[in-house]
Amino acid sequence: MIPPRFETICIHHAEDRERHEGAAAPPIYQASTFTYPNCAEFESRERPDTARYDYTRTDNPTTRLLTEKIVALEGGEAGRAFSSGMAAISAAILSCVRAGDHVVCIDTVYGPTRQLMLHWLPRFGIETTFVPGTDATDFERAIRPNTRILYVESPSSLVYAIQDLAAVADLARSRGLFTICDNSYATPFFQRPLSLGIDLVAHTATKYFGGHSDLVAGVVVGSKARMEPLIEHEGKLLGGVIDPFAAWLMLRGLRTLALRMERHQASALAIARMLQAHPRVERVLHPGLPHHPGIELARRQMTGTSSLLSFTLKATHDVANTSRAAESAGPDASPPDGRKAAAHRVVDMLRYFSIGVSWGGHESLAIPVFLREPGATAGEWGIRLHVGLEHVDDLIADLRQALDGV
Ligand SMILES: *Cc1c(COP(=O)(O)O)cnc(C)c1O
Repeated sequence: MIPPRFETICIHHAEDRERHEGAAAPPIYQASTFTYPNCAEFESRERPDTARYDYTRTDNPTTRLLTEKIVALEGGEAGRAFSSGMAAISAAILSCVRAGDHVVCIDTVYGPTRQLMLHWLPRFGIETTFVPGTDATDFERAIRPNTRILYVESPSSLVYAIQDLAAVADLARSRGLFTICDNSYATPFFQRPLSLGIDLVAHTATKYFGGHSDLVAGVVVGSKARMEPLIEHEGKLLGGVIDPFAAWLMLRGLRTLALRMERHQASALAIARMLQAHPRVERVLHPGLPHHPGIELARRQMTGTSSLLSFTLKATHDVANTSRAAESAGPDASPPDGRKAAAHRVVDMLRYFSIGVSWGGHESLAIPVFLREPGATAGEWGIRLHVGLEHVDDLIADLRQALDGV
């Protein structure tokens, strides 16, 4: 038989329904500890041939089912689920470095990942060089004798910068370095970094894997050789383990992941095109639009795009007035930023797009964001949208009334 495809893995892979009275949905093993009928079985609980569940920080049946599915979806050999995306990302990074090492990372990486590298890893003498990363040679130039990790996130946060994952993986391999890819934007439905040679894939599962804005979790997937020490040390010892109920909610989210991603893709593309044609919109950032930097690369290494897009508003008469008001406030006033005020006004006018961070859930979200492109020192205010699962015509009408109303 041909190997099962994505949707079929989500529904059938690693399920053992007969073990659970045939239940179509697996039970939640909401237990911290597992008990034994006698001391002999207790003593042999960690022997590979007689291994049993022991304690939920180390392993749990609900979590194991979830992990096996995600490993299959990413095309890896082993994985670990964590209590948040940041727990997963920090575990992946810590599993690769020692004191005094060096990391090369893209400069448009997710904010808290950047903070971890900029403010926390230096405690252990670990420095990070941030590079645009839109050209693989950016990484090559930044490599030092003590470099251990090339860290990528493609498409990246807020501006969706694309990195050549295969080229970065090849470079790392030729220099004996590790590669980590945050694949949260695409999910394995649209991109499989391990198949391009990346060592570890990290995710926030809070976003698309969960899909219903009701859980916080993360996952890391890779080869057995890379994952075994990570599971033992950064997983079990640092202890940022997923809760069985969150694992169960994520299993439910996975059943519809493919359907949701297809709808997110279609609706976000329709909205990106609508915004691009709107007279009040200056620029739309979305990795599926033909003018997006790296679009050729995106087409080569991804099979689709998801729910996120950012856009900036044209400066208007109104905006100029805001700037003048700020100037007349005196030389100590913060710099005039009409674009920020305009972004706030549009976001405040939206009705179906709620104002909130995160993304990947059923509900559409909008926030004012400061957009800085790879390698840029300056940037500008714009709006980031997560296009949810509402009817796209309602979302388009909502955006039109907000843009036309200000
Ligand atoms: C949200 C997010 C994370 C962090 O995930 P949490 O579950 O919030 O810890 C990591 N990477 C990206 C790209 C994200 O958007």
